[in-house]
Amino acid sequence: MIADSGRLLLVEDDLTLGKMVDDFLTGHGYRVRWESNGLRALGLIDSETFDALILDIGLPGMDGIQICRSVRDSFGGPIIMLTARGDEIDEVVCLEVGADDYITKPVRPRALLARLKVHLRRGDPQAHQTESSRLEIEGLVVDSTSRTVRLKTESGEENILNVTTAEFDLLLFLMQRAGEVVGRSEIYEQIQGIGYDGVDRSIDLRVSRLRKKLEDDPSNPKRIKSVRGVGYIFAVES
Ligand code: CA
Repeated sequence: MIADSGRLLLVEDDLTLGKMVDDFLTGHGYRVRWESNGLRALGLIDSETFDALILDIGLPGMDGIQICRSVRDSFGGPIIMLTARGDEIDEVVCLEVGADDYITKPVRPRALLARLKVHLRRGDPQAHQTESSRLEIEGLVVDSTSRTVRLKTESGEENILNVTTAEFDLLLFLMQRAGEVVGRSEIYEQIQGIGYDGVDRSIDLRVSRLRKKLEDDPSNPKRIKSVRGVGYIFAVES
């Protein structure tokens, strides 16, 4: 018997590709729900529980970008998009709407599986238990055991921020290195688990989404500052 690796929603209207991915991932212990219509997929995400979503972009009913945009704030697990090869606009848009990753077509199932494992592992609190659990800088509290981010108000209340798994990991990584300039390639390798190719904008897009959530002014950020041509620094006063 194969161990249960998690429950996935695969949204793909290409029957050959959908069947191949469904069979492959099922063979690797995932429970796969395969849906070909975007609108029906949205209904499933609302009514059922999934550990990760794999979304094609061009779909009947509702496209993958719209699905990602509408569920991103409520769905905390990884979202992986399937994009046409070489379509950089799609790739950028995917990350802008909060997808964690994308795989270019033709989809190589092994590559998809590898990315899926990386993203699911990051979302698993068990995998993070050895790290110290609570980090607080200037009223921003990150708890790596419960994987929550809280922002303290002036009156001392703590508001829980809604961040994705990928945003959480990036924020935690920068805060653990607070006061230190961290290179984009180092962040990339740490977060994505693969080498940096010098063009991927996913880290930059994630930082800009995080700034918004942290209520940090993008034109003059107080917390996550850009270091031109190098990377980022999580700023500390003093
Ligand atoms: Ca399609």
